[in-house]
This record gives sequence, C-alpha cells and structure tokens, in this order.
Amino acid sequence: RQRQYRALRDVPAVTRDGVKVNLNINAGLLVDMPHLKDAGADGVGLFRTELLFMLSNSLPKVERQADSYRAILARADGRPVVFRTLDIGGDKVLHYLRQPKEENPAMGWRAVRMGLDRPALLRTQVRALLRAAAGQELRIMIPMVSSASEMDAVHALISKEREILMQRGHELPEKLLVGAMIEVPCLLFELDELMPRVDFVSVGSNDMMQFLFAADRTNARVGSRFDPLTPAPLRALKMLAQTTQKHGVPLTLCGEMAGRPIEAMALIALGFRSLSMAPASIGPVKSMILSLDTTRVSKLVDELVVAGVQNIREHLDTFAKSEGV
Ligand code: PEP
Ligand code: MG
Repeated sequence: RQRQYRALRDVPAVTRDGVKVNLNINAGLLVDMPHLKDAGADGVGLFRTELLFMLSNSLPKVERQADSYRAILARADGRPVVFRTLDIGGDKVLHYLRQPKEENPAMGWRAVRMGLDRPALLRTQVRALLRAAAGQELRIMIPMVSSASEMDAVHALISKEREILMQRGHELPEKLLVGAMIEVPCLLFELDELMPRVDFVSVGSNDMMQFLFAADRTNARVGSRFDPLTPAPLRALKMLAQTTQKHGVPLTLCGEMAGRPIEAMALIALGFRSLSMAPASIGPVKSMILSLDTTRVSKLVDELVVAGVQNIREHLDTFAKSEGV
C-alpha cells in the first residue's frame, strides 16, 4: 500500500470526472517540511505556529520568529503556506506566560481572544510573519474566530504593523491573504458578514465538531461518540460550502476529518475542493479521489442529507465499495 501511495506522488489529485482537489499538509515544525514534496502535496494548509512557542524557553523575539518563518517559506519552495497565528491558552500552556487556570480551557481565553487582549503578542507574531515574507506571498489564518467583528480588529492590528514596517523602510510581502478558521459554530450564522472580511476560510473540524456536538475532543468517553457523517454536521458544512461559493471565497478544511478517505469523499461531495491533512493521509485520500465521480457522490450525499438519513456512513462505505473507491 505504502509503495502504491508513493507511486501516486506526482499524480495530480483529479477525480474521474475531471475535478481537481487541492491537497495540502498540516505542519508545525521545520522537520515537517520535507513531507510537502514526499507526499506530493500542493502546499501547507495549516502551519501550527504554537509549536515553535511551546518548544522555546522564553517568548521568541521578533527576529527569531521571523527566522523560523523564513526557513519554513524557503523549504516550501514557492508552494503556499498558511500560517496560523498562535492558538495557545487553555490546555496549550506556555510556561513563561502567565495564564490563568480555567475550568473550561477549550472555551476559554485562547487563540485570537488572547491575541486581541494581549496585542503585543499577536503584533510581534504578525510583524515577524510580514518580515519573513518580504517580497513574497503571505497567508495568515486566525484561529477560533467567534464573530465577524473580531476580523475587523485583526485587520486593524495587521494594518498597523504593515504601516510601522513601511515607515522603517522594510520590504512588505508582495501579496497578503488573511483568512479565518471556522471552528466556532456561531460563525456559521454570520457568514454573510464574515465573507467580505476574509480572503479564505478553513474549517477546523476538530474544534467545530467538539462545539457542534458539545463533546470534549480530549475526553475518550465522548470524543468520538458522535459521527461527523450524520445529518446535522453535514448540513452545517453544506450550508458553509454554498455560502462561500456564493461569495467566491476559497474554502478548505484542515481538521482530522480531511485525512479520512470516506469523510474526505463526503466533503468533496458537499463542494469542498481543498483539504489539508497529516502528510501520511495524502496517499489514501488521493487514491480515493482518483476513482471518484463527483457528480454521482454529490447526488448521493445530497439525497442522504436532505432526507436526514441517520447512517450516512454505511451508505458511503457501500457506495465507495461499489464504485471501487
Ligand atoms: C481543528 O480544530 O480542527 C484544527 C485544525 O485546529 P487544532 O486541531 O490545532 O485545534
Ligand atoms: Mg482548532
């Protein structure tokens, strides 16, 4: 199997009926970067920057951060890298930062919430990213966005940093794309307001499912109790795919869901044309894509979702087998 997947490395991920699906890897450290070429991926769909901070003994200064981001971009060799701003707080603790103990860390003072309340932290990171991507394209993604207005605050912060760098004579990125992660359910009901404020969106399905089902992703008893391949979450994702399409905003999904072939098949059926996953999942997902007919799978998933069929997974397993997927 492994050899079979390796043989697919340079084969583009195009379905039987000619639909190209963008396949990206999730990464967090420089050592992950060789996977980009080994797996034959289109880019890094999620670079979790907090790992660099967690491995450090003190808050990395702007220069050190810029060096790390620059090294990542160099290794990407022109392929796009989506840098997610710090998603710390709650259970991801930086021992050199004073963080309050919380009862519900997943729903607590984390990610962009902390970033906007402690702007020095986020500003330093944004400045380092802007400097690292001088003359290149820079993609920044904001985690745990809960309202469209938070993106206004983020844009204001980024503009300020651009201004400062410009005044100091630094070269800026040639192009800047700013996106939001969709992982807080509330945002699903404010998409028309969010869309004009973003260049792209990416579903963080790990957190999204945790919050949609009210089931702690770290709790073994409930973490995998509820299946994303059921009507409610699939309706949410379908609505999201339709709305982003209406607004012409690129959509991707970077949670664990993207790396499981049957889940990925359902996502493609709903209209997703870009996915980001652990490098080891690229082969199995690409192999599924190569034998998929999007018209047929879209029709099936749509019927199942509209009818509210409860065992969608079984239907998709059967479909996959009968189609030789
Ligand atoms: C997610 O929530 O799906 C995600 C990609 O982010 P993380 O797993 O880092 O929270
Ligand atoms: Mg998340």
